[in-house]
Amino acid sequence: MNMNNVIEINKLSKKYFNEKQEILAIDDISLAVRDGEFLVIVGPSGCGKSTLLNIIGGIDKKSSGNITIFDGKKIGYMLQTDCLFSWLTILDNALLGLKINNLMTEDNIAYVKKLLNTYGLSEFMDSYPSSLSGGMRQRVALIRTLALKPDILLLDEPFSALDYQTRIMVADDVYKIIKREGKTIIMITHDVGEACSVASRVVVFTNRPARVKKIIDIDMDLSPIERRKLQEFLEYYDKVWKEID
Ligand code: ADP
Ligand code: MG
Repeated sequence: MNMNNVIEINKLSKKYFNEKQEILAIDDISLAVRDGEFLVIVGPSGCGKSTLLNIIGGIDKKSSGNITIFDGKKIGYMLQTDCLFSWLTILDNALLGLKINNLMTEDNIAYVKKLLNTYGLSEFMDSYPSSLSGGMRQRVALIRTLALKPDILLLDEPFSALDYQTRIMVADDVYKIIKREGKTIIMITHDVGEACSVASRVVVFTNRPARVKKIIDIDMDLSPIERRKLQEFLEYYDKVWKEID
């Protein structure tokens, strides 16, 4: 056990069964997640990325191996934008996680209002999701997850529903929020540019069954938009791109 880690995954495998066959989705993955890092997983479509996140998040079961989540580390799983409920106000959407978990204390409600305020949404508290841009809705979804004060955030392709321009702006936005709130992140994306613009490490998975093919350190402690201006960014992009099957 390394005290700088918050999660240790050891020889993890996952098999799905259906009527005709068994599908090996994850094959013998070992991986440590360090405290405070922004770990990004990239890999071919259908290789097993979401499966791994679901197992870490406790909504799917492993077949073998081990996952250790270090003492007291709370995990938040951010649902996608579309999971804002159209009939609930922005405030009620942001409070939903607290409500479901029976945590509607005065302090927690105040914390959500503070986050909405800090991230430019206070005047929209009584509006409905349809009156917000895609980027703003993404921010509400993030605040809903942050409301539960997780130490570790799991993000499964959080920007994939947004158009290219918006995606870059929102990634920048979310990156800054997460850094300011001091979280550890595990994010999945199929977009290499997005990976290199936010990650402190990129883990490349093989085709299914997912195995760790390569881990690349991204040594640029800057926001996504700042990174994209650098020559180094292109070098990292090539390095990651070459590893993907
Ligand atoms: P990724 O997120 O990398 O695109 P997934 O983790 O969603 O891939 O899926 C990995 C493989 O596992 C796919 O072949 C998929 O069809 C299969 N799979 C995922 N969930 C289930 C399930 N609940 N039952 C059976 N097979 C599944
Ligand atoms: Mg997936």
